Amino acid sequence: MRKPERWRYWISLGAGIALLLFAAPCRLAAAGPDAAFSGNRAFDDLKHLVAFGPRPAGSKALADARQWMIGQIEQTGLHVEEDSFVASTPAGSLPMTNLLVKIPGVSSQAVIVAGHYDTKRFEDSKFVGANDGGSSAAVLLEMARALAHRKNKFTIWLVFFDGEEAIQQWTATDSLYGSRHLAEKLTTSGDLGRIGAMILIDMIGDAKLNIDRDGNSTPWLTDLIFTTAHRLGYGKVFLNERSAYQDDHIPFVNAGVAAVDLLGNVGPVSPSAPFGSYWHNAKDTVDKCSSDSLAILGRVVLATLEELEKSPQLK
Ligand SMILES: [Zn+2]
Repeated sequence: MRKPERWRYWISLGAGIALLLFAAPCRLAAAGPDAAFSGNRAFDDLKHLVAFGPRPAGSKALADARQWMIGQIEQTGLHVEEDSFVASTPAGSLPMTNLLVKIPGVSSQAVIVAGHYDTKRFEDSKFVGANDGGSSAAVLLEMARALAHRKNKFTIWLVFFDGEEAIQQWTATDSLYGSRHLAEKLTTSGDLGRIGAMILIDMIGDAKLNIDRDGNSTPWLTDLIFTTAHRLGYGKVFLNERSAYQDDHIPFVNAGVAAVDLLGNVGPVSPSAPFGSYWHNAKDTVDKCSSDSLAILGRVVLATLEELEKSPQLK
């Protein structure tokens, strides 16, 4: 019987090779000067978020963290839209809020860079989600600083999703609350047609980070990101192993948006722990994460945004 895990997945033959690579001592190389995106600043954000304690959807700690994040973003001069809604969950109605930061570009076509900022709810343990929930939010905060004053071709939306985690057990209706809400809202308003691409990041803070190619993501966008990552020298992080993930990109993929999930690991991966041995337990703490990994994601996403400006897939 499958445990209440959040993704359906297959371990491919190639995963064995990934595990071998993973077992080898792996120091993530930093490539080039870090002028725009600061891994150290993002890591400070991560520590700050974890200091709020467990941050499940609907909690006071998450509301406090959200207010702090809004303050951080507003310091860049950018405006934050609060997309609040009430989610129907197995624990009853819960208030949830996505944060949207829209950075205007020359074109009205938009590229979404997204992640979740809630942490999984546990009644019996103190789960602070440094990597799972903290790392994606931290990278997005630093992304706001890096992009705020840049001249961008495309309008860029930074989206902080609430309610990614299941309240009880992962199902199609108990998961992805924020992304399902936003995809539906944009479909209704007609704005979904403006979204040219979506890059989702999740669990990308591990000090020994590995990211597989997700079979549920759009192939051309996945190719673009992995080619860019390899060009930047991050071939040991962006592996060509294949997995298939259920994550916040799925409602957008289902709505016809080109989307990719860059999903890392939370600790060492093994056949019995495909997402890492610290995943969804009390070991997902700051000391397992690194500023290098956050910086790599920041650099790869920023370089991909530049590649998208040249891509015939977007106008
Ligand atoms: Zn999780």
